[in-house]
Order: sequence, then C-alpha cells, then structure tokens
Amino acid sequence: MARVFNEIADMLEISGELVYKAVAYRRVADAVERWPNDVAQLFQADEPPKIPGAGPALTAKLAELATTGELGYYDRMRAQVPSGLLEILKIPGVGPRTVKQLHDELGIDSVDALRAAAEGGTLRGLKGLSARTEENILAAMARLASRGTRLLLHDADALMTGLVEQLRDVRGVGAIEAAGSLRRRKATIGDLDLLAATDDPARLIRALDSLTTVEHVLSAGTDKSSIVLAEGPQVDLMVCPPAGLSLSEKGFKVVESGELEPIATEEEVYERLGLPWIPPEMREDSGEIQAALAGTLPAVVSLADLRGDTHVHSDWTDGVDSIEVMARAARDLGHAWMVLTDHSPSLGITRGLSLERVAEQRQEIGRVNAELAPFRILHGTEMEIRADATLDYPDDLLAGFDVVVASVHTARGQSTEQLTRRTLAAIDNPNVDIVAHPTGRIVNRRDPIALDWPRVFEAAARTGTALELNGSPRLDLDDALARAAGQAGVRLTLASDAHRTEELDQLRYAVSVARRAWLTPGQVLGTRTADELLELVG
Ligand SMILES: [Zn+2]
Ligand SMILES: [Zn+2]
Repeated sequence: MARVFNEIADMLEISGELVYKAVAYRRVADAVERWPNDVAQLFQADEPPKIPGAGPALTAKLAELATTGELGYYDRMRAQVPSGLLEILKIPGVGPRTVKQLHDELGIDSVDALRAAAEGGTLRGLKGLSARTEENILAAMARLASRGTRLLLHDADALMTGLVEQLRDVRGVGAIEAAGSLRRRKATIGDLDLLAATDDPARLIRALDSLTTVEHVLSAGTDKSSIVLAEGPQVDLMVCPPAGLSLSEKGFKVVESGELEPIATEEEVYERLGLPWIPPEMREDSGEIQAALAGTLPAVVSLADLRGDTHVHSDWTDGVDSIEVMARAARDLGHAWMVLTDHSPSLGITRGLSLERVAEQRQEIGRVNAELAPFRILHGTEMEIRADATLDYPDDLLAGFDVVVASVHTARGQSTEQLTRRTLAAIDNPNVDIVAHPTGRIVNRRDPIALDWPRVFEAAARTGTALELNGSPRLDLDDALARAAGQAGVRLTLASDAHRTEELDQLRYAVSVARRAWLTPGQVLGTRTADELLELVG
C-alpha cells in the first residue's frame, strides 16, 4: 500500500500537478509503512486505523486498495504515465520536473532512451541542462546499477567519521558535522550530508574535492559541493559563515524587509521558533513538534545513561575473543557489567553449550569476575526457541542463569501464527527475561518476520519480558516497532550482540534506535546497576 501511494506521488509530480497533492500521498505512504500493525488487515476487519494526513478521499483509496487489492485511481494514472518515467525518477539527481521536461521535449520514456540521449549529447540543448548534467546522469546510472541498496547506518557512520577527521583541520573551519538522515540515525542512508561553518569556503571545498577517497566531483560552487566517494555514496557539503548555521541554508528571512537574520546555533533556531530543542533522531514529523509545543517531549535515553550490555558472545561459542578479553574491553568502554550470552546446543553452527559446558563457563566467569571487580559479568545465555515452540534448555537449568535471552534463528519461514506462538512460548516462560532481535531482520539483507505484535506486546508487558533493540546491522526491533512497544508498556533492552571486542561499540546504534523510538532511561534495562537488573528480572 505504501509503495502504491508513493508511486502515485511520483506520477503526480511527473504530471506537473500541484506539489501539495504529491506531498499528501507521500505522507500517508510513510505513515502506512511505519504503522505497527498490518494496515490492510485493519481495513479488511472493518477497523480502519486513523492514518495521520489521510482525509476522507485518501482513506477511501486506502480502503479500496486494502479490500480489493486494486485501486482504480492508481490504474488510471499508470495508464497515463509511461512506467519508464518512474524508473528514470529513481536516478539520483533527476527530479520530477526534469523527467517531465525530458519526456515533453525529447520524448524520453525509458532509462535506456535517457542513456542514449545523454551519451549522444542531446540533453545539453534543453533549458537548464548542460554537458555536465549528461555526465552526472550517466555516472548516477552506473552507481545505481552497481549499488542498488542504501548504505547501512554503520557504514555511513564510518565513512562520515573519516571525512570529518580529514576536513576538520582545514584552515578556517570552525565546525563540521553530519546532517540529514545520518544525523537523525536512520537505519539506512542515501546521500551523506555534511554541514560546515568556515571563514574560507573555497579552501574547504577544494580540500573535499581533492581527497583521495573522492571518485568524481559532481559540482563545486562557492558555498556547496557535491562529490561521489569511490565507495559509492554521494556527499553533499554545504558551507556557511561561522555565525550562519541555521534552519534554512542561510538563516531566517525577515518577511517585510527581506533581510537575512543569521543565527549561530541550532538551539537558538529552536528558541526563535518558540520550541524546545528536539533531538535530531526524533525529527521525523511523527508528533515531535506537537509534543514539544505541549511540553511533553520525553527526555530520551542516551549512551551515557547505560551501565551495561545485555547481549555479548565469546569464543566459547561463535565469538572471536575470550570471556576475559570481552569483559576487559567492555570495562574499558565504561560499562559496569555485561551479560555473557553464548548460544545453546540446537543452533548447531555455533557449537552451542552443553549442560556441562554451561557449568564450566560459570566457573570461568567466577574467575574473571574475581579479577575484574567491581566490573561484573552476569551469566546469561542466548537460548534457541526451537521450531516446535519448545525451549532449548530445561527450566531447572534456565533458573540457574542470571539472565536468559531467547531467540528465534531457525524455521523463519513459518506462518505468522506459528512464529508468534514460538515467541509467546518464550515470553510466557518465567525464566526468560529478554527476547533478542524479535524480527530477525538484517538491514539490506534479510527481511523481518511478521509477528502478531499486539499479542506479543501484551504478553511482554504483562510478564515483564524485555524486547531487545539489537545494535548490530540487524537494528532489530526497528524504530517504529520499538516505539509501539514502548507505548504498549513493554520494557526494552539495548544490546551490541558483539562477537568480538570491536563490536561492543555497536551498542550506540541500539541507542540511536531507542532515541528514534522516543524511549526514556526508565524504559530501558541497561540503565540499571547489576544488582538492580538482577532484582528486576527476578
Ligand atoms: Zn542471535
Ligand atoms: Zn547473539
């Protein structure tokens, strides 16, 4: 449903319709995609959800699509707009107005036709297009073909850190930092946005353009530059004089006089708008402005609030480093404790621990704890929830662990009902404290499983079982489900799922998801001391 609505928005834009119409469709598409329940099912059950931005006309269209699987309006639009134009729109840097222009003036209606025209040098004759445009379109097509997917947050973060380190010391630069979706910590990132305050914009732009990691300079102006990194993504740099970091590119325009009012800091921008500062991760048009105005914006959890990590592996199963090495690294990161959660036997590939090995591991933990006190390793397990909804360890063994984390790794192809029943079997077992990576997704690689979320949330809230926000490239739960879980009264936990010392740092990506999900320190297990945690999980 979200895809259909997004396509309608594309087609409206290509047809040159008024912008607000397309915006309305996109807004509804976005809300449908983020809705915690299956929107189509709700319409089918005659319990239509109140989708923000969907008035009577758009709600009727959602209902038609949900109940019949078709949408007359969409079909009529498709008949009018050549499908190739929608493909062209996917090329970065080619907007709807250009698509319309290419179609109206040159009859271009497919990606192949556009490539031929760009190669043949016929685009430069059109108003606003140049030889440079042709080059850029061809380069973008090549990138699209080789890349396909958006960058994982972790990878975008690493690229951006590298760029900032290389540009921070360029003369004249006062501040330089990530902006856009990376700053909001979305799970995947398209282009990288970089914002800098500098006395000498030309120098900074030259420095960016001449980095060895740059493959291609798309455009370089006096206050902005776009480049493509050899690793794939495009980077847009925008520069301002040091006093001019502001809401729009330059500042607020005073309407009557047309005069520019530069503002130095983001906090001042919010103040000028009569709003408290809103953390970037919450800036998704999902109620944060209303909450800010009403004074109900929650103080979201930050990395500094966390005292420990509830999901860490060692070389006793599929990890790389020893228990002691992992514990020392966690301590060096400032953690007071970590839960060691090696695998249980039925996950064959990981050499899961037999009952005897569990006992031996407990002795090793005792030895390391004596050495590293007051840092503390809690003895946990990442136990399989088997395909038949039974658990991999018997109850008396489970009762001996400090913390029990349960996971679905196998038979992911089962029906929603079966998968939900397995998850509930774990939640309802009094020994299970946490369900790890509840949807099993891996960003860009594996789709999430669908569970009956209202039932899962109800059971988790009732039993006090925490759901995990996993900071590895799974980023599971995602931000929308995590927010719904929090609203349903479910406790959450943030974890790195580290299999080597370097991965302990992944905990901060779980924090990013938690902030995007509006979670407060009290809703999160890891803000407790070890003793408080043990008391909480019983
Ligand atoms: Zn796992
Ligand atoms: Zn794990």
